[in-house]
Amino acid sequence: MNNCYECGEKLGLKKDNEGTEVQYCESCGAFRYPIFNTAMSTAIVNKSKDKVILIKQYGKDDYILVAGYVNKGESVEQTVAREVKEELRLDIINCEYMRSEYFEKSNTLMLNFISVVEDEDLSKISDEVDKATWFSFDDARKNIKKGSLAEKFLIKILEKLESAK
Ligand SMILES: [Zn+2]
Repeated sequence: MNNCYECGEKLGLKKDNEGTEVQYCESCGAFRYPIFNTAMSTAIVNKSKDKVILIKQYGKDDYILVAGYVNKGESVEQTVAREVKEELRLDIINCEYMRSEYFEKSNTLMLNFISVVEDEDLSKISDEVDKATWFSFDDARKNIKKGSLAEKFLIKILEKLESAK
């Protein structure tokens, strides 16, 4: 970001209250912190933590994780619960933060979670989802979209869940 997103002036640098140099607009008299999108993706596991849901969406043939953008005013935990409910009609009984990665292509910070659901019924999924399937951890590794951020997140999650057994 070289210019102010409000007035278009060229931005300078100024120390904020924390003593950190931050981009600053002289004409607005305001700090201009970086702007990016925030989203979450989540692996959804059953209560005994030996199966995971992967989904197909947008007419594509790859299996991915449930994901969605964080709405303004929402906590990311609320986003996780809302998206799982909207897409799969399932209620989360627990949700745990795992890790994050910045995704340059869509200027998005992606926060990754493990969600646990009580009900395993996938017969009521929404039209937004083409297909939702329970996989064993080994089959999930084989079926997740290769080379994707979802694959990176999923591998870490499955390792963590397996090492806890
Ligand atoms: Zn400005």
